[in-house]
Amino acid sequence: MTEGGEPEPAASLRRRLGTRLLRRAHRGLDAVSARRSSAGAPTRGLALTGTVWTGGDSEPEAGVVVFDGAGIVRAIHLGERPSLPHELLVLGGVNHWVVPGIVDAHVHLGFDPGLDEGGSGTVSGLRTGLVGVRDLGAPLRLAGIWQTGRHKPPRDTPFVAAAGPVLTAPGGYPAQSWGASGYAEFLTGPAQARSLVQRLAADGVDLIKIALEPGSVGWPVPTPDVVAAVVQTAHNLGLSVVAHALTQDMVRRAVEAGVDELAHTPTERLSEALIERIAASGLSITSTLQTFFSGGAGREAAANATDLVAAGVRIHYGTDLGNTGTHPGVDPRELDRLADAGLGRLGALRAATEWSSAAAGIRSRSGLIRVGQPATAVLLPSSPLTEPGAWRTPSAICSDGRLTVVTAPLRLPAERPTT
Ligand SMILES: [Zn+2]
Repeated sequence: MTEGGEPEPAASLRRRLGTRLLRRAHRGLDAVSARRSSAGAPTRGLALTGTVWTGGDSEPEAGVVVFDGAGIVRAIHLGERPSLPHELLVLGGVNHWVVPGIVDAHVHLGFDPGLDEGGSGTVSGLRTGLVGVRDLGAPLRLAGIWQTGRHKPPRDTPFVAAAGPVLTAPGGYPAQSWGASGYAEFLTGPAQARSLVQRLAADGVDLIKIALEPGSVGWPVPTPDVVAAVVQTAHNLGLSVVAHALTQDMVRRAVEAGVDELAHTPTERLSEALIERIAASGLSITSTLQTFFSGGAGREAAANATDLVAAGVRIHYGTDLGNTGTHPGVDPRELDRLADAGLGRLGALRAATEWSSAAAGIRSRSGLIRVGQPATAVLLPSSPLTEPGAWRTPSAICSDGRLTVVTAPLRLPAERPTT
């Protein structure tokens, strides 16, 4: 690994891993691709090879990651010409990268084309290397169907956490726009707010989402005492609170009430003092930068993201699937927006893996590849640092003890209209 995230040249990778291993990995990939199926768990285990990035603050290096049949990492060999049992399936190659899967901390599965209105179908994205999603606004009946909870996600789907309905003031956002049909529930006062949060907790939501959005027409917004009641009750029940707050005033209201996360990078330019306050209070935020650019409001948000990153605030990767310009699966453009905010391409990957996995409500994902631990790993056909578009065509995904081999290039669905 050279400085600045440059991928290791192929010749050096060949030298360090040995051409025999790489040829075997290539043959392995050809063989499983020819079967044209997403295989189940290879009972004898599986090895992925190429340039390996184990996540966190590690550096990418030539290597091999060995998984057992249950998806537990049994060994990580970095640049040492490892000898592997001959019955072990090895996948990868000289240009391949092995990296943790990505978690999208802000989606709306109600707008996922893989799911129908009743909530059945398949949550999209696993085949792009998306191993977890967090829904931040949906009717409770749908959230309950999609949520993974403590079980294993169904085959070919990411882990799903869900906030259930967005809590808002009576008649507030999003009840008069995209959230008219059960996507919002109203907060009428502190006492009612407490019982509403208790009911949602009893119904099993993974976190609480509150909207502080006056819009351009002055929609009603929950008052500070109501926001505080929501946060205190949620915290007493062990749930975190994510706030939709885009303006300086609303961000301040969220911070003062003690919310844990912001659902978006704010779009109104934040003062230095407020950015310092966000950093000091340990709040994390979810990026959703690309959809703001697609909607024409990206510049201020990007400037805020840069300042927040510089102040040490943790940013989760999030697309706001369902909004302008979004489509299911990993979005390389969002990764590049994060890179541009000062994280660089490797830092953006860390935000989308380790940091997003730590977002409230996400379980059974660490965003790290560590010996002895279950891990999700994605085999990319080329360097995601040179070309984030590599996420459009992963070769294989190993998650929850299952191997998914992508045999044909993914075709992205046409863009959906704004809701
Ligand atoms: Zn959203």
